[in-house]
Amino acid sequence: MRVAVVGAGSIGLAVAWRAAQAGAEVVVHDPEPGSGASRVAAGMIAPVTESHYGEAALTPFMAASADAWPAFARELEAASGLPVGFRDIPTVVVGVEDGDRAEVERQTELYRLTAREVETLTGRAVRRTEPLLSHRVRAGVLAAEDRAVDPRAVHDALLAAADRAGVRLEPTAVDDLDAVDADRVVIAAGCGSARFGLPVRPVRGVVLRLRAAPEQPVPRTTVRGYVKGGSVYIVTREHGEVVIGATSDERGFDSTTGTAGAVHDLLRRAIELVPETAEYHLAEVSVGFRPGTPDNLPLIGRLDPRTLAATGHYRNGIALVPATATAVAALLAGGDPGPVAAFAPQRFTEQEET
Ligand SMILES: Cc1cc2nc3c(=O)[nH]c(=O)nc-3n(C[C@H](O)[C@H](O)[C@H](O)COP(=O)(O)OP(=O)(O)OC[C@H]3O[C@@H](n4cnc5c(N)ncnc54)[C@H](O)[C@@H]3O)c2cc1C
Repeated sequence: MRVAVVGAGSIGLAVAWRAAQAGAEVVVHDPEPGSGASRVAAGMIAPVTESHYGEAALTPFMAASADAWPAFARELEAASGLPVGFRDIPTVVVGVEDGDRAEVERQTELYRLTAREVETLTGRAVRRTEPLLSHRVRAGVLAAEDRAVDPRAVHDALLAAADRAGVRLEPTAVDDLDAVDADRVVIAAGCGSARFGLPVRPVRGVVLRLRAAPEQPVPRTTVRGYVKGGSVYIVTREHGEVVIGATSDERGFDSTTGTAGAVHDLLRRAIELVPETAEYHLAEVSVGFRPGTPDNLPLIGRLDPRTLAATGHYRNGIALVPATATAVAALLAGGDPGPVAAFAPQRFTEQEET
């Protein structure tokens, strides 16, 4: 079977890699592989702390993907010969002021609905877990199974693994799916998927990359929290990279206006929670566009007998790489794709027709 994948972000490449492993002849079309959200993302794999009201249908899929990540990371590293920066370190969620602590408590009720490990900690216990937290943090929540990976390393590794598996990269944009010469076409173009009539819109996010010197202490957990009503997260990688994110707003594909305010807000919140972050070098400010959908759930499934969608992963496209690739590979092979019924790409059109 000849499979064409439109988009060489991490979703498209993982789908291509899995399809090639299953014996398909695969071509990935992308004029600029990695130019989308996949290389901007922070890399949290957070089935607990990324749960949101109204998104319960995502819970089992996030859980399956998070559980698949450790083995997926090992397999990808072996197949590519490259590290992917998977870190089995926990996440703490904290608030300093009363309103922020109340928000953490509200979120904790939601976290518990995921039926994964969630533990409320006293101020002392949370600072023992994360010694770099401000002394003003008086309580927190531990999500021991919310981990992280380095999305740029993952993208590099997927490019290499796909190449080794025989996937061909075609460096051109697809305008017309009918003109693509393949038995099956998978749309995995992130925000670019809108061009093919899919209900995907860009949700802008600013994220900062800081660098700690070798002698500087860095957080040993992923720290998430609320500061005067605003949220922030701090994700630490091996070798001293510290990622602070992320804003969220909708301004189309505008990647310039408002970034100064975003940097200010993110740094202020991060320093409030982990004062040591003020001591690091600010290495990069990046702007990315999450592929959002009307109900915040991805679009995974068949559009017609030849065309499939694997897009709209919004805030969780890195976390959902393993489960999406498995589901789409199963769909391509005519097998059971697992718990993706809620993500049928035609769900909005069908609702409008009734
Ligand atoms: C600030 C920020 C922080 C984030 N943090 C996290 C996180 O911590 N954890 C997490 O799980 N997720 C996170 N995300 C979300 C995640 O980045 C996305 O959901 C994911 O990267 C989507 O991957 P993708 O492969 O579908 O799309 P993309 O990575 O956007 O790739 C799409 C590709 O399609 C190509 N393309 C577009 N149109 C065409 C066309 N017509 N023809 C050919 N190619 C085309 C583009 O060139 C691009 O390379 C974050 C996102 C942002 C912006």
